[in-house]
Amino acid sequence: MAGRLFISTLLVIGVALVHSSTIKESTRPNFLTEEDFARARLLPSVVPNGTVFNPPKNELKFPETKNAWKHGQWPNGRIPYTLDPGFNDQQRVEVARAIENYHSKTCVRFVPRQAGDNDFVEILRDDNTCGLANVCRSGGAQFAKFGGSCISSGVMTHELGHTVCFGHEQTRPDRDSYISWNTNICQPHGIDNGNDWSTLDLLYDYVSLQHYEGECYNGCIVPRISGVTKCGSGGDLSVLDVEKINAFYNCGGCQSYRFRPISQLSLNENLVSGGNGINGETLYPCRVYVNGDIIPGKGDPVARSCHVGYAGVEYEARDNFEILTNPKNVNVHWVRRTPGSSFPANAIRGGRSAEREAFYIGRCTLQLTDGKTTTIPGKIHPSASSSMYVAFGGQEYQCADYDVLVCD
Ligand SMILES: [Zn+2]
Repeated sequence: MAGRLFISTLLVIGVALVHSSTIKESTRPNFLTEEDFARARLLPSVVPNGTVFNPPKNELKFPETKNAWKHGQWPNGRIPYTLDPGFNDQQRVEVARAIENYHSKTCVRFVPRQAGDNDFVEILRDDNTCGLANVCRSGGAQFAKFGGSCISSGVMTHELGHTVCFGHEQTRPDRDSYISWNTNICQPHGIDNGNDWSTLDLLYDYVSLQHYEGECYNGCIVPRISGVTKCGSGGDLSVLDVEKINAFYNCGGCQSYRFRPISQLSLNENLVSGGNGINGETLYPCRVYVNGDIIPGKGDPVARSCHVGYAGVEYEARDNFEILTNPKNVNVHWVRRTPGSSFPANAIRGGRSAEREAFYIGRCTLQLTDGKTTTIPGKIHPSASSSMYVAFGGQEYQCADYDVLVCD
């Protein structure tokens, strides 16, 4: 008797467990709660040198392969979503973290689907894929999925990058200027249709979240620029990803500054004065690739030049560089960095290292031996004790005192 009772009790317990777990899953809301976001914020920050995304080949099979496609833009950057109610707590937190990546740096907003939202993205798990998503708003229900061993915030951030409207960086129409392919290892990916695509005139970004990683590291994708050490973002949005999204969705306020290519810049645009040269010319923050880094420096749009410092030497670019603009005339201004003070949280990111570290924009004044002075915009390097560097007279100088470009 005792034995039978024991068994039947076990059975009852078993049924109860299944039952309660069914109830628990079915009562999870199909949207993220404040609790999910709060848990996501408690996670340690994404490891900047991590590798998170090695998608299988079939990740490329989009129902639509439009990229930065204006007709597929989400109105006002508002993206209604539903969440697979079968996600467990940990999976919900990974999705919350992915969405937080967008909410904290861009004006795109993922919002729980409301009545009347006919176009929306279903965030799903599918263990037959690593990640898969429709690109841009395709009309009606569309999906962003992750699954298998790829359930991470990094993979979901990448898939939601497709939802937001971006394809893969290595398939940009201009990618052949930046990468080549070792066909002994892999076949080149196709190139996106230029009619459907906009690079938004931003520099090619090896460390974009939308750039494949593994095919760089196995020698398949060969960068044409020297000094490229990493591909992919490591799971968060890169400096240029954020700028690209904010440009595409016309974000305002302190998300409205834009770096513009010198080839398209009009001198009538609202530039950000950064100092003066020894002949009185006004200098403006610019940036350009040097050895895998995208480095802020001193730009002269009249002379069409951008000078930056790298490894003690001054480099001059005459083309393929960018100038900072402030098209909405928001409150972008310089603040003094006093010794020992904390670095301003509202500093403007102006570039990044090949190792994915953000650079900020500073300026400092050099006192010359003939009594003249020159105030020069340049690079602030946070991991190097927030040191600031400018280029002058063929050399790179480190500044003791400097201003930081901020927005508020
Ligand atoms: Zn992808």
